[in-house]
Amino acid sequence: MPDYGHDLMFGTFITPSAHRGVQEALPASLRGKAIAPGDAAYPGVRHSYSWPGSPALVLRPENADEVVTALAYVRAQELPLAVRSGGHGISGRSTNDGGIVIDLAELNRVEVLDRASGRVRLEPGARWGEVARKLAPYGLAMSSGDSGGVGVGGLTTTGGIGYLARKHGLTIDHVTAVEMVLADGTQVRADRDHHPDLFWAVRGAGGNFGVVTAFELEAYEVGDVVYAGLVVDATETAAFLRRWGRLVEEAPREITSFLTLAPARGGNPPVAQMTLVYAGDEVEAAQDALSPFLGAGPVLDQQAAVVPYPELVRASGQRHEGHGLAEVRSGLVEHVTPEIAAGVEGMLHAGDTLFTQFRSVGGAVNDVPAQATAYPHRTQNFSLLAATVPVLSARLNKRWEALREHLNGLYLSFETDTSPERLADAFPEPALSRLRALKQIHDPDNVFNGNFPIR
Ligand SMILES: Cc1cc2nc3c(=O)[nH]c(=O)nc-3n(C[C@H](O)[C@H](O)[C@H](O)COP(=O)(O)OP(=O)(O)OC[C@H]3O[C@@H](n4cnc5c(N)ncnc54)[C@H](O)[C@@H]3O)c2cc1C
Repeated sequence: MPDYGHDLMFGTFITPSAHRGVQEALPASLRGKAIAPGDAAYPGVRHSYSWPGSPALVLRPENADEVVTALAYVRAQELPLAVRSGGHGISGRSTNDGGIVIDLAELNRVEVLDRASGRVRLEPGARWGEVARKLAPYGLAMSSGDSGGVGVGGLTTTGGIGYLARKHGLTIDHVTAVEMVLADGTQVRADRDHHPDLFWAVRGAGGNFGVVTAFELEAYEVGDVVYAGLVVDATETAAFLRRWGRLVEEAPREITSFLTLAPARGGNPPVAQMTLVYAGDEVEAAQDALSPFLGAGPVLDQQAAVVPYPELVRASGQRHEGHGLAEVRSGLVEHVTPEIAAGVEGMLHAGDTLFTQFRSVGGAVNDVPAQATAYPHRTQNFSLLAATVPVLSARLNKRWEALREHLNGLYLSFETDTSPERLADAFPEPALSRLRALKQIHDPDNVFNGNFPIR
């Protein structure tokens, strides 16, 4: 193992001569593709969106062969490994302290392989904003999430609850093949006919099984969509939530809605920011589908527009500062029941959460059989999350424990509690046993342990 020295290990200081030593110690193909403390580029790559970090080294391979080399190098150093695509991980920590990050930012190609079938090839370091922008000229799109800054790699190995979810399902539901590097350095292509077990596992629990270097997906035709944004006075939180939940379930599949609730601040009431997307450009049908939501609660502000889909997921391109929300709790529910609505009202009114979000799933998400992918949650209509900062985490946890008996599973991408019980929530049986058996085969040393490690 090369001697990085104490300072480098903890990421505090490195002299230029020590840095030269780091580059020289690397395999030839990675020289010049490593960033270490002391480099001008280091502040821009050390943190992820949510997590501050001080890695000893960030390796930026440019192709799958270099990923193999990088992985072998990390394993030989016996240092912690983090795998990063877009760096927006919440459950997945794509940075660390004193370890090595394999950063896939340079593997970022977006290609349309066949316009007729919608077959596209996405590399993991591409961001969803960029994917939307590049598919739009072909009249194609892929629902991902609400942020264009999120990377292809993290989202497409876990789920992908996006603005077109009820019409088109999760992102993983459209994956037809993955190219990946396994823990022992083997490169495989997994699809329905090759390594079908891995293909199943990578669509939901992918972070545990290797480094995906490319995804093939079947995109679908989307042109303009109708967007509506409402700001609602959520003082009567529980009653409002129940109405909103009912409206979403009754709405045609073209409607997907995300809801963010923020506590009362500065004399203002608690407010709900409601985003509604109608997956189509038929304005009259959209108006019919959207107008019932005006009755969900007292509307403080509203806007609506017909927009090209990429407008909804513009990437900010900001540098990651690790400004993190330390605690995020996730749950999935069939319906917004009185118990769920009251629980959310309690935490919101007490100020025990910075914000709470609902995302509608259901619709096409639930057309997929539960055991078809390692995301087995195919009866729920809503994903729920609550986020807070460390100083409030005990209060949030207490509230969440009270809510837990009313939840049915969780979405791994929105949970930071990686205790073993949460694994069972993320991967209800028989999924967890199947994943454990596959982990034993493909990653017996638990090399990929930075995102809900399955032991
Ligand atoms: C502001 C914000 C908004 C979000 N909104 C949504 C949303 O609307 N819907 C939704 O579904 N999710 C959403 N998410 C969650 C997001 O999908 C996940 O956090 C996702 O993991 C981020 O992907 P990334 O590539 O940017 O993450 P990274 O931080 O790069 O990676 C996260 C983890 O994913 C794994 N991983 C990353 N790349 C690979 C790879 N190539 N191969 C194997 N494993 C890999 C690793 O375990 C890694 O630790 C949001 C997150 C943020 C921060």
